[in-house]
Amino acid sequence: MPPSGSAAGSTESSAAGSAASGVAVPPPRPAGTPAGLWDRYGRRATDMRLSLTDKCNLRCTYCMPAEGLEWLSKQAVMTKDEIVRIVRIGVNALGVRELRLTGGEPLVRADLVDIIAGIRADHPDLPISMTTNGVGLDKKAAALKAAGLTRINVSLDSLHEETFTKLTRRPFLDRVLAGVDAAWAAGLGPVKLNAVLMRGINDAESPDLLEWALGRGYELRFIEQMPLDADHGWTRRNMITAAEIRELLSRDFMLGTDPRERDGAPAERFEVRRRDTATGEATGPVLGTVGIIASVTEPFCSDCRRTRITAEGKIMSCLFSREEFDLLGLLREGATDDQLASRWQDAMWVKPKAHGMDHTGLGAADFVQPDRSMSAIGG
Ligand code: SAM
Ligand code: SF4
Repeated sequence: MPPSGSAAGSTESSAAGSAASGVAVPPPRPAGTPAGLWDRYGRRATDMRLSLTDKCNLRCTYCMPAEGLEWLSKQAVMTKDEIVRIVRIGVNALGVRELRLTGGEPLVRADLVDIIAGIRADHPDLPISMTTNGVGLDKKAAALKAAGLTRINVSLDSLHEETFTKLTRRPFLDRVLAGVDAAWAAGLGPVKLNAVLMRGINDAESPDLLEWALGRGYELRFIEQMPLDADHGWTRRNMITAAEIRELLSRDFMLGTDPRERDGAPAERFEVRRRDTATGEATGPVLGTVGIIASVTEPFCSDCRRTRITAEGKIMSCLFSREEFDLLGLLREGATDDQLASRWQDAMWVKPKAHGMDHTGLGAADFVQPDRSMSAIGG
C-alpha cells in the first residue's frame, strides 16, 4: 500500500534567499511503484516546467517586489548541459511528453538558444514551449524557432502604456507588443497570451484585451492571481475570480463550452462569440477561444500532470509545495541517470493531493503561502 502520511523527507540543508524553507531528500517511494512520475494519488506527471533563471527584467506587482529579489549565484543555477541532461532523463526514462521553459525571464539567459538547440537535438518530436514576458523577443524569435522552440506564451496584462507600467513597474509595453508580433511572424504560433487581472487596475480592460487578441488570432488566457507574490499582498477577497472574469467578458461576448477535451490543461477553454447588446444573445460566428486558469477558485489538482524543476535544480511537485527536493546537487555529486530518475520519482510520489486553498472562503486555515514567489519557482 502506498504511504499516506506526511510528505516530509529528511531535511538536508536550508535553502537561502528566495528558496523554500526546507530542501529535503524525499522518502523512498514504495517498492513496485510503476516507472514514470507517479504520485500516491494515481496522477502521472508528463508535463515538465523547467525554470531557466530566477532573474527578471520586469517587476510585476503580483510576482516580484519593486526592488527585485536576491538573485541566485551563477554557480547555483543549472548550466546548459545540466538542463539538457535533466530533460533527457525526464523524457527518456520518466515519460515526460511536453516541456515548458519558464523563469524568472527565460530571455535573460544568454545561452537560451543553445539550451533549446541542445534539448531539440535529443528529442526531435518533443513539444517545447516557453513562457516569457516578451521583452527582447522581437530580436530573438527567429533564432528560437530555428533552434527548435515549438510555441510561445507571452504575458500581457494591459494594452495601455500607463497600466502596463503600473503593473510591471517598467515602461516596456511597446517592446512586448513587438515581441508578440515577432513570435507570430517567426512561426512560434499558436501564440498564447497570459493575463493576470488585478482589481481596479486592469480588470475593466479584460473585454478589450480579448477583442485585441481575437482580432490577431492570439489565444488569450486569464490566470487567477495566486498567493505567490513576493510582497505577500494577495488576498482572497481582492483577487478577481474566474466567475468574475466570465462576467466581465460577458459585457461584449458570449462564452460557450469548447468541445475539445481539456486533457489535463490548466486552462478551461471557451469558444467566444459576440453578444448582441439588444437581445443579449450570441451573434455571428465563433471568433476564437479564451482560456481561464482558475487555480484558486476552481482548482484542477486532481488532474494535475505537472512536474517542476527550479532554476537551481530543485524538484517541486506543485506550485504551492512547501517541500522541494534537490536534483542538481545529486547530479553534481556524480549520480547516474538511474539514481537521478529515482530521486525524481521519489519526489513526485509525495506530491500533495491539493494545494489547500479554500475556494469558498478566505483561504483554508492550514494554507500557508509558500516562501518562494512565482518568479523563483518558474510559473
Ligand atoms: N517571466 C515570464 C512571464 O512573465 O511570462 C515567465 C515566468 S512568469 C512567473 C510565468 C507566468 O506566471 C506569467 O504568465 C505570469 O503572469 C504568471 N504569474 C506570476 N505571478 C503570478 C501570480 N501571483 N498569480 C498568477 N499568475 C502569476
Ligand atoms: Fe518577471 Fe514574469 Fe514575474 Fe513578471 S511575472 S516579474 S515578467 S517573472
